[in-house]
Amino acid sequence: MSTSDDASRADGAPGGRGEPPRSLATRLERLPGVGSARARRLERLGLVTVADALMHFPRDYRDFSGAHAVGDLVDGEHASLAGTVADVGTRTTARGGQMLVVRLACADGGVRAVWFNMPFMARRFAVGQAVVIAGQPRRSGGKWEFAHPEVRWLGAGERHDASEWLAVYPLADGVQQWHVRAAVQAALEHGAELPPEALPAGILAAKGLLPIAEALREIHCPSARPMIDAARRRFVYQELFMLQLALRMHRAQQQRRRAAPAIPCDARVDGRIRARFPFDLTAAQGRVCAEIVADMGRPEPMNRLLQGDVGSGKTAVALYCVLAAVAARVPGAPAAPSGRAPGYQAAIMAPTELLARQHAATLEHLLGDQGGRVPRAELPVELLVGGQSAARRRASLERIASGEARIVVGTQALLAGEARFRNLALVVIDEQHRFGVVQRGLLQEGHTDPHTLLMTATPIPRTVAHAVYGDLDVSTLDEQPPGRQPVATYRVEREQTDAWWDFFRRKLRDGRQGYVVVPAVEESKRGLESVGSAYEQLANGALEEFRLGLVHGRLPARRKAEVMEALRAGEIDVLVATSVIEVGIDVPRATLMTILDADSFGLAQLHQLRGRVARGAARGICGAVAGPGASPRVDAFVATTDGFALAEQDLLLRGPGDLVGARQSGAPPMYLADLLRDAEVVAEARRDAIDLFQRDPALADPALDRLRHLIAARWGDTLGLARIG
Ligand code: ADP
Ligand code: MG
Repeated sequence: MSTSDDASRADGAPGGRGEPPRSLATRLERLPGVGSARARRLERLGLVTVADALMHFPRDYRDFSGAHAVGDLVDGEHASLAGTVADVGTRTTARGGQMLVVRLACADGGVRAVWFNMPFMARRFAVGQAVVIAGQPRRSGGKWEFAHPEVRWLGAGERHDASEWLAVYPLADGVQQWHVRAAVQAALEHGAELPPEALPAGILAAKGLLPIAEALREIHCPSARPMIDAARRRFVYQELFMLQLALRMHRAQQQRRRAAPAIPCDARVDGRIRARFPFDLTAAQGRVCAEIVADMGRPEPMNRLLQGDVGSGKTAVALYCVLAAVAARVPGAPAAPSGRAPGYQAAIMAPTELLARQHAATLEHLLGDQGGRVPRAELPVELLVGGQSAARRRASLERIASGEARIVVGTQALLAGEARFRNLALVVIDEQHRFGVVQRGLLQEGHTDPHTLLMTATPIPRTVAHAVYGDLDVSTLDEQPPGRQPVATYRVEREQTDAWWDFFRRKLRDGRQGYVVVPAVEESKRGLESVGSAYEQLANGALEEFRLGLVHGRLPARRKAEVMEALRAGEIDVLVATSVIEVGIDVPRATLMTILDADSFGLAQLHQLRGRVARGAARGICGAVAGPGASPRVDAFVATTDGFALAEQDLLLRGPGDLVGARQSGAPPMYLADLLRDAEVVAEARRDAIDLFQRDPALADPALDRLRHLIAARWGDTLGLARIG
């Protein structure tokens, strides 16, 4: 939430001999008590001006009440003590390092505070000075000792309980807490100006939010514990409200700029498409298909995210929509020699070549006569993947450009990089867990944009989806196809692996197929289980009697495809693989899985892997082999098969700030908002943003100047909102 942008660099203004008036843009080194050496350090944190310091929010608070007594101290438990410096000394430790020892006299006894190899700390203490220290005490040589405690130096006459909560700031290399604290304090006390209010007065009042000046003081120097939450709430709200507005504006601009083909889809088309599937669509699939088709019927580009747990049948939905798109004719286009108007094109982008090939194969099957069940459909499918010859690639690209290729399946890299379409109506982006709000387009000549359907099997809690993808509509498949049973998942301790292999072998002898998943060499913490050596060990050991296949990321794609085909055809019993099989691969007869070194996979990844064995008639079985010790991810994984619950768990385990996809896509992370904890605020901010946007889509009301300005500064580049500034 940097605001230095808008505070014009006024500090260069001629100020005569006297100090120029201070403003938000005043450089920190000009403030009393900061100095140029410290200012240079602070630059490493991006803190240059008063505004930067004010908007550098604490990540935590420490109890600095100084209320503890020496007599109450408990080994290892946070405490804060008030006292006066009785002695400052430096020693050399046994290893030749330097130790600073500060003895404090407190009301009921003495304690020591020590610092190792930080000689400059000595200068900060003077005998007789009043301080508060906070940290974890240890009993050492019969005395209480605090190693590297936090320190608050009390000014003359300042009471230790004047501010009980001390802010703890994010730091950078070489920047210490007290550097930041001093700068923030100086900015608050001497900055002379606080940022103007950005939130509309009506919203402040209606939501009971603290006004900016008070919120800033309270977030840095809380006057009481509840004020921390109140201040934080204000900034979280502001952050989410601005993001929601930015996303609304982005979407409005997109839709204004671009037109998309309106694809009609009536009951007749619906019936014809449904008849091609070897199963009935689930109610959820039907509902979601209808949502998507309704979007495609409008002449603005659809931007829809389809989320559904692993195995919920997203591919069927995608193929339905692809068939609906290509069933339509391009209006006004010159007729082909056949006398028919040319049809639209649709593209499916897959993250891997394996998956692209699988989708193409599924499509070929759907479009075939399926043993006389439905008439063969004359819809050319073009596959565009790496490893094809240059000549073949060129011919494909030509057919795509001429419009002859109607359905194009390929890897993201190739489709986004090389293909130019003629009449593209729909792009499906499959298994996309790393997209953000940016970079989603696919090029085509001409004046319309395609509709876009994004699919993810890493379900995102609804609040997060709203916060991060507020410019997308979200459809959710909340139902599994009939007959599915949750995968029986076990945690296998390393010493139990022999027993596990016994069990695994028995199931294989019953005629099942399965996978053994091994972390790729780089992924494995111990680097032990390289997939090649795991394969050899299994082939000569536990799985000796079975036919094994091997697939990993470094194999040529053609070879990977052959191995997958052999698995599908039942020519191999067990596939030893890295997580290349993580996404999308669909071999219903494979219902067994062993995941080695499970603790080196992410939670979403584990769930994806397990999804591979959740699709057969027989109940899937998955063993996660993990080393000794706590492994919260593996425990969470074993405890539930609900992908949505796991997604929430995952966010909790990874902690706030590390949003799904947001980092990878280059969108700025949230500064304060924690999308799970702040779920309610997300919902409120979204409602309020929609409301305001409907009344004043350009934020033209002069009372919103500041808000508009901040949104442009924060999100303008990412979302191409430059014009609103
Ligand atoms: P995902 O959502 O993980 O991409 P898929 O689309 O790959 O799931 O579907 C998983 C499996 O379920 C596939 O084998 C597919 O053929 C099957 N399937 C999809 N929809 C249905 C349905 N309505 N009834 C029965 N099986 C279905
Ligand atoms: Mg899929």
